[in-house]
Amino acid sequence: MSAALPFTHVPHPAPTAEAVRAGLIADPGFGKIFSDHMVTIEWTEGQGWHSATLGPRQPIALDPAAAVLHYAQEIFEGLKAYRLADGTMALFRPEANARRFNASAKRLAMPELPEDLFIEAIRQLVKVDANWFPGVEGGSLYLRPFMIATEAFLGVRPAKEYKFIVIASPAGNYFKSGAPAVSIWVSDYTRAAPGGTGAAKCGGNYAASLVPTAEAFAQGHDQVLFLDAAEHKWVEELGGMNLFFAMADGRLVTPPLTGTILPGVTRDSLLQLAAEEGLNVSEEPYSLDQWRADAASGALLETFACGTAAVVTPVGKVAGRDGEFTIGSGGPGQITQKLRARLVAIQRGEAPDPHGWVLKL
Ligand SMILES: *Cc1c(COP(=O)(O)O)cnc(C)c1O
Repeated sequence: MSAALPFTHVPHPAPTAEAVRAGLIADPGFGKIFSDHMVTIEWTEGQGWHSATLGPRQPIALDPAAAVLHYAQEIFEGLKAYRLADGTMALFRPEANARRFNASAKRLAMPELPEDLFIEAIRQLVKVDANWFPGVEGGSLYLRPFMIATEAFLGVRPAKEYKFIVIASPAGNYFKSGAPAVSIWVSDYTRAAPGGTGAAKCGGNYAASLVPTAEAFAQGHDQVLFLDAAEHKWVEELGGMNLFFAMADGRLVTPPLTGTILPGVTRDSLLQLAAEEGLNVSEEPYSLDQWRADAASGALLETFACGTAAVVTPVGKVAGRDGEFTIGSGGPGQITQKLRARLVAIQRGEAPDPHGWVLKL
């Protein structure tokens, strides 16, 4: 695949010394260390996308009046490069991320990036920084494409200049021996309202989720759960993960994409895999009251959260102002573990890929 735009390659003047890099990728954690390079592509009104560059990762010079710093015109994506059993590097459904990136761009009044250019930028970065792939079992190279409005202008309107950037961060296995169940806090705050930006992957949504997240931590919980804005009744999602409910009657329920929920690639993949496993998948509204009642009656067996970073995470306990309840035994359940294993096996090239989800680089 070749993108229409030529990439200028700027050699790194001083790549990280091998011994230092080896130390960093031995236990990378998540989002803490970064590879040597980055891709930058610029957009200017009247000219479109230009100046695609693969060069050293370095600070970005921004005018203090740059629109992103004042009006938060910013969007991002998150996906991982995996190393397959045969040693090749691969991406999982990157075209889905490219499509979603453009959907986010539209909502934030930003220019769309051709899908093949989005994927080519990632391909170039992964190739040049393949030696940053963590040696740890279950490791991956987490990729963070993002776009910011760089025009220096304080008037309120869509900017006329943007930068698209991709950086890479070696990531360890989020959970070394299967995911432990998390405890979640039902927030009184709202993440997304109808007609808002809930379906866009933009930094602004995350800025607004930090106080509720801090509150969840302060109450002793791992994650925050948001209900719908209008009735404060329907379950939407966690701060950065979608939710699924596995029922005793074989149904697998997840809230529908009505514009206030982020359409996760993991969510979409699990919907397809679960249907193939014989589960009766259903995208339907699910209320907190129903959830509590189903957990108590045994109609609900398991609840899990999903997203690129942690893949699939069991939810063991739910707490809020009205008290708390436990799901199943409070630990990881069988349906959760089975779906997680199926998805991870495809991502790592250990299982057949009938949907063509894995893109070898
Ligand atoms: C990115 C994100 C998700 C998960 O999406 P994936 O494509 O599965 O990684 C879920 N919720 C929010 C708010 C997100 O930003």
